Amino acid sequence: MKIFLWPTSLFLFVCTICTALATPCPGPENSNQPTQCKSLRQYFCSPEEKRNVPAMTDVEYQTSLRKLRTPEFTARLQGHIQGAIQEERALTPAQKQSLSQKAKDTHLVFENEDAMELGLSENALLYIKSIRILTCGLEGNVTNAMALYVENRRIISVCPGLVRKIVSAQQTSEEMADSLTFVLGHETGHFLFKEHEALYENFKDCLLDNPTHEGLAKQSTMNIFKIIFGELRVGPHLNEIVADYWGNRAMAQMMKSNTRAETFRSNYSFICGIGNDDDGEHPGLDYRFDFLTRNDPGIAEALQCPMRPGCRL
Ligand SMILES: [Zn+2]
Repeated sequence: MKIFLWPTSLFLFVCTICTALATPCPGPENSNQPTQCKSLRQYFCSPEEKRNVPAMTDVEYQTSLRKLRTPEFTARLQGHIQGAIQEERALTPAQKQSLSQKAKDTHLVFENEDAMELGLSENALLYIKSIRILTCGLEGNVTNAMALYVENRRIISVCPGLVRKIVSAQQTSEEMADSLTFVLGHETGHFLFKEHEALYENFKDCLLDNPTHEGLAKQSTMNIFKIIFGELRVGPHLNEIVADYWGNRAMAQMMKSNTRAETFRSNYSFICGIGNDDDGEHPGLDYRFDFLTRNDPGIAEALQCPMRPGCRL
């Protein structure tokens, strides 16, 4: 029962103390807070952010691709991801070293020709091509990205639609890296989870104890223990929750040197519309934005919103 009552009772408890001390109540409903604190979901998914993939000419797309394939792009992006790993206090130096190497050893595929440079077999290339048609659509305009293991290589396949939506041809390589930080941090996070699942045991336990897990869709089962302990809600979503964790951590690093609200919002806006609802693996947007993103101390501070209580590694 305490699970269901926790958010309300905690809020009332904190408010009672605040009233006694004659200070403003720090809840999300506080009207003194910036409007984005009321709902990050609404902030990211405002009507103007829900625009379709903008018309980018082929020349502009090719210009963007050239900038995405530069050492400057890679260095800037890796700076955000590596910074996030190094700042993680729960990790030992050896664990940081291992995660850091895996993040570095990840290949970006924006077009099929990028995969051709990885020395893969014909079958592997055909596999990547097929996956890209499935995830990006025949025209390539779906705003999607995917982490893949192919012949022992870590590959992040990025659909042209995502590049067209988030990046503009006028941006520098570094600005493009900043614009793609959340999605590429998230996809890298899948590798950091799958190859180190044991590192996330405490994190998972915390999520199970946290009442917000009630916001996750439950997978049907006859296993009564899994139902009681919330395992059915957290377990199937853990991979995506951890990926968001790293995506948000990389964003917090990026925002140390880039405070443009437009860059910040466009990083998240591509999810709006395609991932509104919980699909059994990806949590719904309210959970992702208003619990996971708001739980990142760097992001909460940059947004001037109180950090949501949640789980850290
Ligand atoms: Zn994912």
